[in-house]
Amino acid sequence: MSDFWKEQVYINPHDFKYCPKCGSKLKIKNEGDIPRLMCATCGFIFYQNPIPAVGAVLLRGNKILLVKRKYEPKAGDWCLPAGFLEYGESIIDGLVREVKEETNLDIKPGKLFQVCNAMDDPRTHVVLVVYRGEIVNGNLKPGDDALEAEFFSFDSLPEKIAFTCHIWAIEAAKKEVN
Ligand SMILES: [Zn+2]
Repeated sequence: MSDFWKEQVYINPHDFKYCPKCGSKLKIKNEGDIPRLMCATCGFIFYQNPIPAVGAVLLRGNKILLVKRKYEPKAGDWCLPAGFLEYGESIIDGLVREVKEETNLDIKPGKLFQVCNAMDDPRTHVVLVVYRGEIVNGNLKPGDDALEAEFFSFDSLPEKIAFTCHIWAIEAAKKEVN
C-alpha cells in the first residue's frame, strides 16, 4: 500500500470514533502493513474498501453528454452522468438510474467502456465503471445533483472537467468518434 493510501486510511474515518457494534472507542491497529480501525472490546474491524460508481458515455452525433456538478467536490465542473451505486443495486440498474436522475434521459446500456481507479475524489477511493449507452427516450433536463446537462462537441468541451477518470473516458470517447 502506498504512503498516500495509508494516509487516507487515517484521514477518511476521522468521524468514526466509536465501534458501530458495541459503542467502545475504536483504535488504529496495523493488520500486516495496513492500518485499520479496530474495536478492542468486541473485535470489530472497520474494513475500508473502495466505493464503486457508474458513469455513462452517451453520444448524440459527434457530441458527448456531460452534466454540471451541483455539489462539492468540484461543484460547477462538468463530468459524465455518474454516481455511486446503492447497496444491493446492480451496476446496470445504477447506471440507468443515475442517467435518468441527472439528465431525465432513458438509456439502453451498451458495452463496458472503461474501469478506472479514481484517486482524486476527496471523499473516498472510487472505482468508476463506465458504460456506453444508447439514448432511447426522454427530454434532456438536468436534475438531482446536476445543475445543467448538455451535449458538447469534442473540440469545444467545457474548460473544467471534474476527476481524472472522467477526463480519460471523454478522451477515449473522442478517439472513437474521430
Ligand atoms: Zn466493539
